Amino acid sequence: MPAATLPPEILAKYEPVIGLEVHVQLLTATKAFCGCANRFGSAPNTNICPVCLGLPGALPVLNAKAVEFATLASLAINCQVRERSIFARKNYFYPDLPKGYQISQFDKPIAEHGWIEIPTAGGATKRVGITRLHMEEDAGKSLHDGFSDSATRTYLDLNRCGTPLVEIVSEPDLRTPDEAFEYLTRLKEILLYTGVSDCNMEEGSLRCDANVSVRPRGQEEFGTKVEVKNVNSFRFVRLALEYEIERQIEVIESGGRIVQESRLWSADEGRTFSMRSKEQAHDYRYFPEPDLPPLILTSGFLAQKSKELPELPEARRARMIREYELNPKDAHTLTASREFADRFEAAAKTSDSPRRVANILLSEVGGRLNALGLEQDESPVSMAGIVLAADLLDEDKISSKQMKQLFDICFEKGEDFPAVYEREKPQQLTDSSAIEAMIDEVIAANPKQVEQYRAGKKTVAGFFVGQVMRASKGQANPALLNELVTKKLEG
Ligand SMILES: [Zn+2]
Repeated sequence: MPAATLPPEILAKYEPVIGLEVHVQLLTATKAFCGCANRFGSAPNTNICPVCLGLPGALPVLNAKAVEFATLASLAINCQVRERSIFARKNYFYPDLPKGYQISQFDKPIAEHGWIEIPTAGGATKRVGITRLHMEEDAGKSLHDGFSDSATRTYLDLNRCGTPLVEIVSEPDLRTPDEAFEYLTRLKEILLYTGVSDCNMEEGSLRCDANVSVRPRGQEEFGTKVEVKNVNSFRFVRLALEYEIERQIEVIESGGRIVQESRLWSADEGRTFSMRSKEQAHDYRYFPEPDLPPLILTSGFLAQKSKELPELPEARRARMIREYELNPKDAHTLTASREFADRFEAAAKTSDSPRRVANILLSEVGGRLNALGLEQDESPVSMAGIVLAADLLDEDKISSKQMKQLFDICFEKGEDFPAVYEREKPQQLTDSSAIEAMIDEVIAANPKQVEQYRAGKKTVAGFFVGQVMRASKGQANPALLNELVTKKLEG
């Protein structure tokens, strides 16, 4: 039953309560408890061994790199890292879980009590609590499609068994689908900066489940929650939550009762549907993993990991706004990935005008890339090319119109800026008398603007500069032109 669009006054009576569970695969070379390769896309059932297959007698050995990554992720989201955490067995049967249990953490996870900040609709910042981050292993994959006998058989690929994961559980602090979207965006950005995961959602490196309930506004007590499982993009999480909130309000408004259950999002149909009832909570019979000792992290180890933590996106944005006089939107674009921000800053440092480097990167190059639907790494213009353009502009060796023409050529021919500049070497008109002659013409043709200028409206000078620049086909030396326009108008 798809939810009808409810009138706003009905929707306004209820407050949604949302909490998110995010599973993140760690970018280790090997799996969590064995030496098998942790790699996406290998031929099925090639990265497996007795440990990750759970064969009798095989013993797990914890991957130190996975612990380092989990610790870095915990610190980056402001969690308190436990000195002593315990691995636990989470028992359940599923065909792609050959051991019959998953090694996870239960009441003593590696980290708890964290938070991240998200921007809200009103332009303010909201702190979203993080209940816990725990380590666990992934299960294999059941393949239901793509084989000639898929109608009657399911295939198993166990390569993913034992892949190291962290699960990050938020507090039920989110109140709108937009806040959920922001939370996920910020969390992913932070994790990417730490380098612990590639967060590739298409490959399942980052997966999200959402818990959502609604309650009458003003009511303290939470409503019955529904879990929306495995939504594979942030956009779909937002859509699934929008749908689910309306569905729940509609059920309550029509006198019904919300059933605690897991639901799946269907992107094709734009709705969630019931998966299995959770009326009786699962009994996973957690108990401490007898094959692994407690995980002890020394204060020295934690101090070392704190030191390794990179400057995180929010702090970096604030610093770049200060250092390069950027506006928040530009700072945001430049810090979208750590790699891009690094490349920008390395280039900006070699230029006399970092602010101009940012401008050209975002508007001239970024604008052309956008128009062509290209990514930054597909740009024909290198950072060094952008720095050269910025410096030429800064030294008045080219006009901004000439720069635009050179960038047009770069994108037409797929060539970098320095090569195009060397070949084209745009002519500059530096002959004062020639420029003065053009200024005289423009002044004669625009008596009204001359009057405005002489009446005190000095900004009109820009109009004359623009007109003469056009008349010179962009070739007039900008500094000389500015100087002469002022001289003539004052004269
Ligand atoms: Zn293995």
